[in-house]
Amino acid sequence: MAETVLVLNAGSSSIKFELFEIGPQDRLASLFAGQIEGIGVRPRLLARTRAGAVLAERTLPREEANDVEGAMAVVERFLDETLDAPPIAAGHRVVHGGPVFSAPVAIDEEVLATLETFVPLAPLHQPYNLALVRALRRSRPDLFQVACFDTAFHRGHPALADCFALPDWLWEEGVRRYGFHGLSYEYVAARLRELDPELAEKKVIVAHLGSGCSMCALRGGKSVESTMGFTALDGLPMGTRPGQLDPGVVLYLAAAKGMDPEAIQHFLYHDCGLKGLSGISNDLRVLLSSADPKAAFALEFFVYKIAQMTGWLAAALEGLDGFVFTAGIGENSPTIREAVAHRLRWLGMELDPHANAAHGPLVSTPASRVRVYVVPTDEELVIARHTLALLRRGGDRR
Ligand code: ADP
Repeated sequence: MAETVLVLNAGSSSIKFELFEIGPQDRLASLFAGQIEGIGVRPRLLARTRAGAVLAERTLPREEANDVEGAMAVVERFLDETLDAPPIAAGHRVVHGGPVFSAPVAIDEEVLATLETFVPLAPLHQPYNLALVRALRRSRPDLFQVACFDTAFHRGHPALADCFALPDWLWEEGVRRYGFHGLSYEYVAARLRELDPELAEKKVIVAHLGSGCSMCALRGGKSVESTMGFTALDGLPMGTRPGQLDPGVVLYLAAAKGMDPEAIQHFLYHDCGLKGLSGISNDLRVLLSSADPKAAFALEFFVYKIAQMTGWLAAALEGLDGFVFTAGIGENSPTIREAVAHRLRWLGMELDPHANAAHGPLVSTPASRVRVYVVPTDEELVIARHTLALLRRGGDRR
């Protein structure tokens, strides 16, 4: 068997993993992907090949995967059973690179210490990302590990895009607009260069519409603005997060409702967005198939905000040549794509119904002034590529 690279993505109660085989000229091909979910509660291991064949599906005793470290030990045992040789490197999705990291980095103690200082910037994700790095450093001290950041792709923004109208000391402390989903945008920008090199050099908006939703303005394939800001709460409404919100609402929750910061945080991350607005579900498929007027309103609101944010990003770009849909909703829902395009018809956006139903990649008509694509994203492949590239460069530490 060829050598492999492991990609890891830790959440509060799950570890997602994907294994890539290194082919000739270092081309990477996915062998299988899996996850342990329900860590500490009712852990389950599931692994499938990209074609969907099940490699493992088992419920684990709770004490076996009580925390990230235990769960990682389960993943390692599964890899030992499945592979002839262990992976030669591991790439981690790490949500926050702070103001420091504008590119993936090989992990050592110094890097880890710096990444720990960004925990307050992403308290719901960063601790789990770093716990997994530490667990793997303990079990495989010699394994080459790389951190790839959701923020890095946006680090080239002009200061105008990154700052709030707040006193300077908050900027110095790192209170800035970072933007997220950068690994997804990096993949889409590279794929667009293959699909439509001429368009990729122009002004393009990418809409990453999944459980989390954001949009990114690209000029010549580089991010110049993002709808997500200081945290992954800002911008578009999402499955369970509200998106753009007057900070006065947060003050109201604290002062009039007596909610403490932890309760407000939980509320904003888990009870708002499509779920809160509809009162039905955070899952777009459920809302699309519901006859409840509240589901229809939540969908209309979602589409309205995507269209509004398009205007906002087009103003940053001073024009618009292309629009790309990606992630769970963007890749799979012709209904949402058509509704968004209909609201943006004033921009000269027009979809071809057949191409849209077939998921493109090109879904706009020849007459459409804005060229519209559907590009399935692949954040794990981006991480695997960066990890291997850093390994080949001799493991530069920075
Ligand atoms: P994650 O951020 O968890 O990776 P995904 O990118 O998988 O999320 O997106 C999840 C969202 O995609 C959910 O709202 C889900 O309803 C939606 N989705 C997935 N498949 C479809 C589909 N066929 N039609 C409409 N929405 C879909």
